[in-house]
Amino acid sequence: MTHSVLIKNGTIVTAADSYQADVYIKGEAVHTIGKNLNALPPFNQANKIIDATGCYLFPGGIDPHTHMELPFMGTYSSDSFESGTLAGLYGGTTTIIDFAIQAQGKSLNAGLDEWHRKADGQAVGDYAFHLAVTDFNEQTQAEVQEVIQKRGVSSFKIFMAYKGALMVDDLQIARLMAETARFGGMVIAHTENGDMVANNVAQLLTEGHTGVKYHGLSRPPICEAEAAGRFMDLAHHGEHECYIVHLTCEESLNRVRKATQRNQRVFVETCIQYLMFNDSQYELPGFEGAKWIFSPPLRKAKDQEALWHGMNQNLIHTVATDHCPFCLDQKRMGEQDFSKIPNGAPGIENRFELMYSEGVEKGRISLNKFVDVTSTAAAKIFGMFPRKGTIAVGSDADIVIFDPTVEHTYSVENQHMNCDYSAYEGWRVKGKCRTVLLRGTVAIDEGKTLINKGFGKYIHRAPVMEPLLSESQKTGDTPCQIG
Ligand SMILES: [Zn+2]
Repeated sequence: MTHSVLIKNGTIVTAADSYQADVYIKGEAVHTIGKNLNALPPFNQANKIIDATGCYLFPGGIDPHTHMELPFMGTYSSDSFESGTLAGLYGGTTTIIDFAIQAQGKSLNAGLDEWHRKADGQAVGDYAFHLAVTDFNEQTQAEVQEVIQKRGVSSFKIFMAYKGALMVDDLQIARLMAETARFGGMVIAHTENGDMVANNVAQLLTEGHTGVKYHGLSRPPICEAEAAGRFMDLAHHGEHECYIVHLTCEESLNRVRKATQRNQRVFVETCIQYLMFNDSQYELPGFEGAKWIFSPPLRKAKDQEALWHGMNQNLIHTVATDHCPFCLDQKRMGEQDFSKIPNGAPGIENRFELMYSEGVEKGRISLNKFVDVTSTAAAKIFGMFPRKGTIAVGSDADIVIFDPTVEHTYSVENQHMNCDYSAYEGWRVKGKCRTVLLRGTVAIDEGKTLINKGFGKYIHRAPVMEPLLSESQKTGDTPCQIG
């Protein structure tokens, strides 16, 4: 008999609605949504009945920007797919989109193979991949169609920063945009001007400025805004849609605003740390500020304000984490030279609850906007909707039973991320993920893990937008298969 669950008396919240109803789950998907199902067979004979009185039922969070086991700056990010996705589940995130990286000189497929080796059979939560292209040439161009149609990866990331390592030039970006668009793929970008940054870093180090705070000063908003503007210009020129990852500042946001004036469609992501912190963290004594060294860096309070408003103006669509933890020993590689501090911080376990506590509870965003930026928009933009990103009949039963009354405090002592510090140590948050279901199975309940590594499935994503090919030329599988 197929396993069934009834969640009764909760308030369902999607990006569009909020209403009280019971949810009946059969197997991995939502089967029925209705009032008082608890009084009717077969719903009241479910294998498991969960009382969600006083709780919200949110679609499982989707974090569209993570880096598990990323080889970077001479070391590896400290979360594996197992520990990272488990921490995500504790924090209400049921699906991640991690970045598989093509090694320069190697194929795109080899990059994807490598990331499947890290994740398959290891992940606890569901996962999909973006593919970061570090070397776009005739050989890699020939792989694009297969990557989109056969391997379920429809978003291609480029770095305009990290000169000499991951950075690509404008011609490669334009060509990649053209090739991916043919098959319904989209280019997404880390927008910082790598030449300007490299020059600033060299100059600061020459002048003997080696401390933490110079990280921020080496990458001012203009570096980000210039690259964001150039990226959007390249997309506009080729008539492509595009997505900017981790946008941090007012200056970049205003370039996005400007792009909309020529009827361009740009998708924008920010990350939780840019909403929660400003660059005063870099003034903390000693090496403390290294905990918040990532790129782009933290900005000013006015930029935080702009980001919150940008969400409500529909200029910013998703809030991710760029989860890329490094332990303090790893961070200390840059104790004498800020440019050697591994860039990245933990956050996957905190994003969802922080957005509720700081966003909804403080009146900055509505409940529906909260669901949109933490889940629905990412599912829609990246070809996973409506299987992921909502609570609806037929959708995967990825559901967070969220108690808005519980207050708790973040600490390295109680986190599940594999990192020896919390970026939010001592933060008091209102609202807690009480129970988390992944594809109909209770994954987390009241602080207990109920599933094992390998439970997480790879999500084959559909094209991110309508391919430019005609109907007859389209091949490939049903959109968004699992497995
Ligand atoms: Zn990243």
